[in-house]
Amino acid sequence: MKIKSGDKVKVIAGKDKGKKGKVLQVFPEKKKVSVEGINLAIKHMRPRRQNEQGQKIEFPAPLNVSNLMLICPKCNKTTRVKYKVLDKVDKKSEKKKRMCNKCNELID
Ligand SMILES: [Zn+2]
Repeated sequence: MKIKSGDKVKVIAGKDKGKKGKVLQVFPEKKKVSVEGINLAIKHMRPRRQNEQGQKIEFPAPLNVSNLMLICPKCNKTTRVKYKVLDKVDKKSEKKKRMCNKCNELID
């Protein structure tokens, strides 16, 4: 996936179009991510005691990666992600690094 948790993203489609937020969780198998403050849904909690009221809890529902664009941490612009394949890397790190299409800086 081109988007990882902790990334800043901008919503480019849907009801929250134009909003920005931080990625909280990624769901690679569904190609979805949840973003702080975006696509809020309400969960109803049942009261635990008899005289207690039920609670509504707002939480960010996962949204499709295709509705989001990455904000580059280096140049602060929304960008497409391209990949750079590095020749020399140690065994632990990935060979493919994400790269900003606008300023050509590595993102990872
Ligand atoms: Zn950039």
